[in-house]
Amino acid sequence: MLRIRIDSITDSGLNLDEREDAARLPLLNTVAGEGGLRFIHPVHVRIHATLSGETVLIDGIAETVVRIPCSRCLEPFDLKIKTDFSATAVPEIQPLIDPEPADEIELAADDMDVIAYSGDNIDLRDEIAQQIIMALPFKPLCRNACKGLCSRCGADLNQTPCQCRPLDEKSPFSVLKARTFPKKQE
Ligand SMILES: [Zn+2]
Ligand SMILES: [Zn+2]
Repeated sequence: MLRIRIDSITDSGLNLDEREDAARLPLLNTVAGEGGLRFIHPVHVRIHATLSGETVLIDGIAETVVRIPCSRCLEPFDLKIKTDFSATAVPEIQPLIDPEPADEIELAADDMDVIAYSGDNIDLRDEIAQQIIMALPFKPLCRNACKGLCSRCGADLNQTPCQCRPLDEKSPFSVLKARTFPKKQE
């Protein structure tokens, strides 16, 4: 679901505790397809919403587990995602005569933390999906000490040390060390 019914928000606010299959959040589906990752737990969302006039103030926590390839060794691993967020939902203003104001409204609705709603409920799916996407690490690591792949033979160095020579033999200093300098000529 991941929807808030406006008329269910009481004076003390509304608490929502829901689990939704990530496949039912279209933005997460897109990211999973493009990024080679998979959401292996439902998205667990806890929300507190309060009403102020027609504006709805939302505070929430979203959690899930994603199976994502390590950026060093490329092995998929499970990463827990947990993110706090706040958002404001405002009624969508219907474009009346002039199409130009509608463009401006769309810009405002694109803003990450403003959700436009129409009718009597707020769809939280895109907001929550965006929060989870922002919480994904840019360079996921299966562990801090991941040794990655050998840049020469491609072996996973977490599994086996490969037979390649240590890279520091290629360092420019090793060339200097190995070199015998000719005696200075008079
Ligand atoms: Zn790794
Ligand atoms: Zn190697």
